[in-house]
Order: sequence, then C-alpha cells, then structure tokens
Amino acid sequence: MSDTHDFDLIVIGAGSGGVRLARMSAQYGARVAVVESRYLGGTCVNVGCVPKKLFVYGAHVGDDLEDAAGYGWQVPKEHISFDWPTLVANKNTEIERLNGIYGQLLDNAGVTIIEGTASLTDANTVKVGERSWTARHITVATGSWPMLPDIPGKELILSSNEMFYLPQLPREAVVIGGGYIAVEFAGILAGLGVDTTLLYRGDLFMRGFDGDVRRFLVTEMEKKGVRLRFNTNAEAVEASGSGYIVTLTDGSTMSTGLVMAATGRQALTEGLGLEQLGVEFTVSGHIQVDDHFQTAVPSITALGDVIGTPQLTPVALGQGMVLSRRLFGDGQGDMDYSFIPTAVFCQPNIGTVGATEEEARDKGHRVTVFRSEFRPMKYTLSGRDERCLMKLVVDADTDRVLGAHMVGPDAGEIIQGLAVAMKAGATKAHFDSTLGIHPTSAEEFVTMRTPAG
Ligand code: NDP
Repeated sequence: MSDTHDFDLIVIGAGSGGVRLARMSAQYGARVAVVESRYLGGTCVNVGCVPKKLFVYGAHVGDDLEDAAGYGWQVPKEHISFDWPTLVANKNTEIERLNGIYGQLLDNAGVTIIEGTASLTDANTVKVGERSWTARHITVATGSWPMLPDIPGKELILSSNEMFYLPQLPREAVVIGGGYIAVEFAGILAGLGVDTTLLYRGDLFMRGFDGDVRRFLVTEMEKKGVRLRFNTNAEAVEASGSGYIVTLTDGSTMSTGLVMAATGRQALTEGLGLEQLGVEFTVSGHIQVDDHFQTAVPSITALGDVIGTPQLTPVALGQGMVLSRRLFGDGQGDMDYSFIPTAVFCQPNIGTVGATEEEARDKGHRVTVFRSEFRPMKYTLSGRDERCLMKLVVDADTDRVLGAHMVGPDAGEIIQGLAVAMKAGATKAHFDSTLGIHPTSAEEFVTMRTPAG
C-alpha cells in the first residue's frame, strides 16, 4: 500500500458504519484513522437504538408489575414508584461502558482515533483543528441528525437527542410524527406513566409498513393509553408557565408539559467542505454515491445514514464490511438490500421482513395472505387485554414467502429468524413443513394454514 499519505484511509464519523469500516480495513492491513467530534458509537450507541431499548425495557416493567397479580404476586400499587433520574443515570453508565468498548475495539485494531471536527481541504486531506492528515481514501460516515418541523416555537421542541437526557418526566407530552421514533417514544412515555398524545399529519401512521400492522398498532397503542390524533399536526408551540401550548392544524390548542418531534433525520454534512470538492448530493440532501459507495470524487466514499439508504445500524454495518473489502480486500462484493428485517420497539413491538401486502400487489404478484390474531399466553392469567398479530404474504404462483409481519411481544426476536429463511428463498410449503416450538407465539408462523378471507 502507498506510503505517500499519512493513512490509507481516514473515516469521518465513529458511528456504527464508520467504526466497522475502520476496524475491518485495519484487519486487511490498512493504516486507518477515524475522526469523531462527539462520541464513539454514533447515534445508535449514544442517542438511538441502545438507550432507546433500555428505556423500552424500563417502560415495560410497569406492565410486568401490573401482570404480576394474575400469577399470585402481590405488588400493591401504593408500593410502586418510578424514579426517572435513576433510569437515566443507569442508562448513562451503560452508554459510557459501551463508548469505552468502542474505543478499545478501535485501539485493538490499530486504528488511530482523532477527536475533533473534520473538514476536507482537498480530495485527500482532512483537517481537524490546526492539524491536517492525508489519506489515499476518505470515507464520510457522519450519519444523520433529527429534523424538527419548521413552525413557530421550533426552538421549544425536543428531538430524540434531548429525550435521552431529560432531567425529569413531564405529566403530559405531545409527540409529533408517525414513524419509528414517534411511536417508540410515545410507548416509552406512556409506559412510564406520562399522559401521551401522538400527532400524525396523515390518515394512518407508520407509512411504508403493512396496512394490517398499521391498523393493529392503532388499537394496541390506544389500549395502552396513548392518544392518537391523525390528520392533525402542530402548527405552533409557545411556552406557557412551566409547560407549552400547542396550536393544532384544526385551530384548536392543547397544553402539555413537553413537545417532542420525531419527523425524520437529515444527512449530517455541514462544514465538511464536500461541495467545493465536487461531491454531489441527492435532492433530499444525502451524499450521492454509486452501488460501491463511491462519490463523484474518486478518493471519497460515503456510507450509512448520510447516503440515504435505510437508516438502520445493521445496514451501515453491512456497508462497512462491503466497503472495506472493496477498498482493501479482493475488491469484490456488493451490498444486498433485499429482505432487510426491521423491528420498531413501540409497545407492542413491530417486526417485519420483506414485502408488505400492498407492495407485493403493486409489484404484480398474485398474493395469498395468512393472518392470525391471538392473545399471547402470558396474558391469559394476568388478564391483560393485549393481542398479537402475525401475517405472511405469499406469492400464490411460486409459493415463495414474500413478507412476514408481526405486532406483539418480542417481534424483532422472532422476525430475525424468519429473515434467514426468507433470504434463503423459503416457500410457504417450507413454513408448513417446519415443526413449531410449543408453546410459543412464534409457532403460529408455521401453523397458519387457512388463507385470510
Ligand atoms: P421516519 O421517517 O420513520 O418518520 C418520520 C415521520 O414524521 C413520518 O410519520 C412523517 O410523516 C412525519 N413528518 C415528516 N415531516 C413532518 C412535518 N414537517 N410535520 C409533521 N410530521 C412530519 O423518521 P423518524 O424520525 O421516526 O426516524 C428516522 C429513521 O431512523 C427511521 O426512518 C429509521 O430508519 C431509523 N430508526 C430506526 C429504528 C429501529 O430500527 N427500531 C428506531 C428509530 C429510528 P409522513 O409519513 O406523512 O411522511
């Protein structure tokens, strides 16, 4: 490898994709540096997947305490209290531990960590503070940042970033948005006892998910006490005493103790100096790359949230693996975006892989649908009124399972296994010939025999 540069590769951004790329490239023998201005581990570790899941677990404990009585445990309500600062502090300790592990992983791989904000001064030079380093390849893995709605009072609205460090929980909260983060935080807040209203601008939230999943989630979230207001958006927010007044699109107002928006995330590229070097951008502001993560500038590649592919940690990790092999391995390999499984940690969880019924029909498949709804066994003794939905979308001509969708406890855990089968080309006949694990909810996926009407 060339010695004329300080490094073979400088990665800008130590998030999921950047760290994976840096470590894998170092294992191929490349001299690698990674520049990070905030925290090791990026959004996922610090203000995303990991702390969110810890909060979801925390919120779920409330349900478990309620369910205890049906199993004979006496947990008097007056003995139950919840301390938000304890949850936040314990979460922070865990995140610091993970930050340390990320540092160790990079150190052990021989990757140089440069702390600070990077900008590119030419196609091979990265400047951080007063110092500059050159590299044969530069990869931009700077991720994304929450976008807030551009309405009066925008400065009073919190994003998910701040929610992870709230000093105290409000009594009431308004969540704006109808995607992953909005439903996850609405579930967390409601689970922790906050009177929660979710505002979504369209007819039905979770656009892009299967229609049955979206409708089922409405019922289940409402049972958990989340107020869902569709075809309603926030038009303005103003401070009022210790809380806020939100003006809605229908002209009415509501008072609340907290306003959070989860209205999408934009690519984080400001200040990098990419435009001047000729890097091109998509209309949505993402860095334009080809199938091999190559930007318009030969020495500059980009991956992760910043390129506008699905904003999911495993996607960025996969891209990091592929790009390291392309740059420093045998130069082969492509990222495969088929059958990306995903879970939404709303309550109950959504797990999904493959085509929705709507997508399958739109693509011209003749579709057979199998659907099952039931009360999970765990809730029989506790009497909890929560149901589970499972759905398979099957190509009627080839018998191939095109999509698997679930709303219910541990949906992500269950769908992960199905994703392997579906990636391997599983047909409905394969599902039918697979024995169930009894008694589980998951076995329903291999025992659905009658097509939905
Ligand atoms: P999403 O793109 O999932 O959802 C954004 C939501 O905000 C949509 O309902 C959208 O409505 C709505 N919206 C957009 N602009 C406005 C506006 N100006 N006013 C009101 N509503 C608006 O974004 P999130 O912020 O929820 O999450 C970002 C991404 O992060 C996700 O797409 C996902 O890829 C990733 N993520 C993954 C998680 C996981 O794997 N569990 C968890 C959290 C995030 P409409 O549908 O009408 O456009």
